[in-house]
Amino acid sequence: MINLDNETIEFPCPRCGFYNAIVFKQARLRDVVICRGCKSNIQLDDQMNECRKAERAIRKAMQELEKTLKI
Ligand SMILES: [Zn+2]
Repeated sequence: MINLDNETIEFPCPRCGFYNAIVFKQARLRDVVICRGCKSNIQLDDQMNECRKAERAIRKAMQELEKTLKI
């Protein structure tokens, strides 16, 4: 199984649009991050669907790659 916990993802702050870098683990654990743009707290709960979609897409791509490379 591919571990994506330490993969960095970026998402725009809902308030100011500043892109904040987080790791998947934070999204998975529904962490609260402080926006580096406007210093407001962002509850990652709202971003969960996007993260899940991204995670699925990455997993699928990796599986395709593994098939291609016959690992
Ligand atoms: Zn912000």
